[in-house]
Formats: sequence, structure tokens, C-alpha cells
Amino acid sequence: MKTIRLREGKERSLQRRHPWIFDSAIAKGGGDPGETVRVESHDGQFLGWAAFSPSSKIRARVWSFDEAQRIDAAFFIAACARSISARARFDVNSDGMRLVHGESDGLPGLIVDRYGDTLVAQFQFAGAERWKDVLADALLAATGLTKLYERSDASTRAQEGLAPVTGWLRGDGPTELTIQEHGWRLTLDIATGHKTGFYLDQRDSRKKMADAAQRLQFQRVLNCFCYTGGFTVAALAGMQAGMRAGGGGMGHVTSIDSSGPALERAAASVALNGFAAENVTFMDADVNASLRQFAAQGQTFDCIVLDPPKFAPTAAHADRAARAYKDINRLAFKILEPGGVLFTYSCSGGINADLFHKIVASAGIDAGVDGFITERLGGAPDHPMTINFPEGEYLKGLVVLRK
Ligand code: SAH
Repeated sequence: MKTIRLREGKERSLQRRHPWIFDSAIAKGGGDPGETVRVESHDGQFLGWAAFSPSSKIRARVWSFDEAQRIDAAFFIAACARSISARARFDVNSDGMRLVHGESDGLPGLIVDRYGDTLVAQFQFAGAERWKDVLADALLAATGLTKLYERSDASTRAQEGLAPVTGWLRGDGPTELTIQEHGWRLTLDIATGHKTGFYLDQRDSRKKMADAAQRLQFQRVLNCFCYTGGFTVAALAGMQAGMRAGGGGMGHVTSIDSSGPALERAAASVALNGFAAENVTFMDADVNASLRQFAAQGQTFDCIVLDPPKFAPTAAHADRAARAYKDINRLAFKILEPGGVLFTYSCSGGINADLFHKIVASAGIDAGVDGFITERLGGAPDHPMTINFPEGEYLKGLVVLRK
């Protein structure tokens, strides 16, 4: 068994059960890609069993902090079963859900999403890559399913020196799938979509948005960065329910994205739920430019969703990203009607919840708009955050009701 020994003082984060070991913390020792190594403090105390990543800045990730634990097939079978059975206690109103969320589920580098009868997995780091076959079989055994598609094409793999891999790992079948979320039907493609095909992490926010659309009877919704139209369908469903209750006319959703294929899929989901095409406008455009254009034309909305891509993957990008977030939020405030609602998000790991709050606040001040922050939002519960791994909190959102 190979051992890595840490520098003096570098044992502290592991003693608090944080699973990452940076290259700069290691005094000596190493291993092959994905090999399990024993991690010791500078004076030889056992700290954990970790998977070694020779070419990554995060040089090792801990599988277990228990010296008696063997890191073998049985360990991974138990860890997958535990992660999946935990979902039974989460409130997930969908047949699309995250079953394994990496570090937060004790399986660094493994992401697994379930879409109906199909699993999609990302093996992001050398450790998960090395145990891929064991993990694939364990996931199918724990779910009783037969189909597992691999989407190991995230950019993080390049930092590990791993080539991208996509395709069926077990079984095969269609890659175009439909899930049922809150009773809506949403289509996705696990082969070509972002991440594993869909943004499951925004599930609860889509419901909140639908509820607000119903309660406040929105008439003109703007969904920025709409991707495959999750928030678009949510808005339409909410507006339709509000219309039935209140007797008013059906509202309209303008949905913007710069990806043509995503917009086509969004239109397909709108049709699949029986909403009329005339109630939606899809714009293949840049959000920033479109927001400026609406402001110049004096076009306003009573609800705006801003769910941009990750502007700051790490804290090093935070400054530039903060300006980009501020810009779109300022522009959105300018075209939000008094009494209207902004749902605004950041999925950047490099921007924490406090900083995001400050950015949105200063965007409001620059736009000359005040608002009530009625809710702080995070990822859906199947993307859990744990006490020992604060990095798990990557998605944050604010609901702002304009005064
Ligand atoms: N809200 C979506 C997820 C958004 S992901 C959901 O609930 O499913 C971010 C989206 O922003 C992607 O679809 C990407 O194509 C789009 N995008 C990135 N930069 C953009 C830009 N400058 N203008 C418009 N869309 C952009």
C-alpha cells in the first residue's frame, strides 16, 4: 500500500472530514492514477484512504476517514446503495433525479443522474475512473435498472489527464428521453445535452416560479438562458392555472438562449405539454444584447428569470464574473415592472451566497430599483450540501419582488 505524507499543519482540513488534499499539502509519496493511497500527517498519524490523481491540483480525494475500512468493490457497492437510498427521504417530485452527487455523497468524482429507466454517469476524477466497472454494476444493482450511459466529458477530466468518454457503458436504448417533473413532461437528450442532459438542480425553483406565476397571474414572463425550456413550461403551467382561477387571459413567455438545439427542444417540451406556440416567443440571441434592446424599446416584463451559465468556475474568476452578474441583473431590473418578480441565480462555485446577494443588491441600486428579497434559493435536495463539504453549495438564487 502506498502512502502520502502531508506537511505539518496540513492535516487539519482532513481532521474536519473535508475530502480534498491539494498538491501543496503533500510532503512526500504518491501513487498511480486513481490508486488508493494511505494518507498520513507529518508525524505518521492515519488521516484517510484516498484516490490519487497525479496530474491534478487536487492531488488526492478521500474515500474513507476510517482506518479499518477496506477500499474494495464491497465499499463501492455499499456507498452507491447508501447514496441511492438517501433519496427516498428527499422531496423529489420527479422521475428525473440525481442519485450520486460526488463528495456530498462520499463518492468524489462520481455524478449519477436517473432519467426514468436510464442512468447517466460522469466519472470525473482518476479514482472514480479506476473503479468505473465496479461502480457501474453497483449503480444498476442498487436501482434494478439495466441502462447506464456515460457522459465523462466534463472539462474537469482534462485536468486529471483523462480523455473524454461518452456512450453506453451498460445496455443501450434511446438517448432522447422525457421526464415527468411536477406533472410536466420535459424532454432531454443524454448524449448531446449539457451536463448529463438536464438541469435537475433547478427543479424546486421551477416549481416556485410556476406557483408565483399562478398566484400573481403573470402576463409577460422573460426566461433568460432558457436552455431546454424548463422555466418556460413552468411559467406556462402556472399562468394557465392562474388564468383558470382568476378568469384573465393567457400570458406570454419570451425565452432566450444562444443555443439553437436547446431552443428546438424547448419548443418540443412546450408542445408536449399542450401549450399553444402563440403563447411563447423563442429568441436565438445573446441575453445581454436582448436585455439592452428591450430597455431601448421600452418593453417590460412582470417576471424575469436569469439563470446564466457558470461565469466563475473558481474564486480566481470571481471579479470578472461579479461584473457580468451585476450587468445582467441591472439590465433585468430596468425592464422589470413595479410589483414584478425577478428569479436570479448563480451556479458559480467561485461566488458565494453573500457575494451574490451583494451583487444583486448593487445591480438594483444602479438600476434605481428597490425590492423585497422574498426568498433565498439553493439546489434541489437531491444535490445535497453536507456539513464537511461547503463547496457543495454551488447554486444560489434570490427571488426579488420589485417595490
Ligand atoms: N434555466 C435552464 C438552465 C440554463 S443553463 C434550465 O432550467 O434548464 C445556461 C444556458 O445559457 C445554456 O442553455 C446556454 O446555451 C445559455 N447561454 C450561455 N451564454 C448565453 C448568452 N450570452 N446568451 C444567451 N444564452 C446563453
